[in-house]
Amino acid sequence: MRLSRTRNRNTQNHDAKSHDTLTARHTPAVELAGVTKTYPGGVRALDEVSLTVERGTFVAVMGPSGSGKSTLMHCAAGLDSPTGGRAFIDGTEIGGLDEAHRTELRRRSVGFVFQSYNLVPSLTIEDNILLPLRLAGEKPDRAWVSGLIERVGMTGRLAHRPAELSGGQQQRAAIARALVSRPAVVFADEPTGALDLKTAREVLGLLRDLVDGLGQTVVMVTHDPAAAARADLAMVMADGRVVETLKAPTAAELAQCVTSLETE
Ligand code: ADP
Ligand code: MG
Repeated sequence: MRLSRTRNRNTQNHDAKSHDTLTARHTPAVELAGVTKTYPGGVRALDEVSLTVERGTFVAVMGPSGSGKSTLMHCAAGLDSPTGGRAFIDGTEIGGLDEAHRTELRRRSVGFVFQSYNLVPSLTIEDNILLPLRLAGEKPDRAWVSGLIERVGMTGRLAHRPAELSGGQQQRAAIARALVSRPAVVFADEPTGALDLKTAREVLGLLRDLVDGLGQTVVMVTHDPAAAARADLAMVMADGRVVETLKAPTAAELAQCVTSLETE
């Protein structure tokens, strides 16, 4: 097993100045520094999580149900506010922003892919893909958009409505929508959870291709060790902490790691 313990950063020394010096040289897509999330009622869903997602990498987040995966994603994506610590997207600290600026940062820098695709049923595939740009009042870069549509295999489907496509095709369209504004990071929450094995493999291949071919950064939450094995790095959570970080993980070692946590 190629297990490596999580690098534990000294968050005490992680002041604004040292962070600015750091970002001037090199800005990770996502950075969490000692992030804690305690829900009203006292559940500590995240317990001083520190991690870095480098640009152009594919990161998987695994862990038993209730270990904090969704909370981690929501705090890292600016959908929810940590109760402690600091979270950065593309070098911008989320906690320092009011709601309007947080929404703006998400719109500009974050793409989302959901298990259930979440395409707008009344819109064509083309309009679904272009929707984030329309909402932001931005003009599409035609060359980028047509390259992206080709890459996800949607060229012949642009005039269709979502209901006319298979699950795998809908997820491909949703992935194009997530990438259309060239976000610093795409968060995918169980993107293959509703797909059959073969289609799931194709969608994972597409995510891998977007990282390798376009330098996109992807953070994917998944229960599936085979899916997580496509990532460059897998972080395994338990009780609100990242307990293992595996580089170039195999499905077998991930399955073993998660099973050992579930039976502990
Ligand atoms: P996972 O996605 O790994 O299943 P979650 O991040 O959803 O885990 O949940 C982590 C812990 O936080 C769980 O104990 C869960 O019950 C709790 N939790 C999640 N969301 C809320 C909430 N809105 N209010 C209170 N507790 C919550
Ligand atoms: Mg969850």
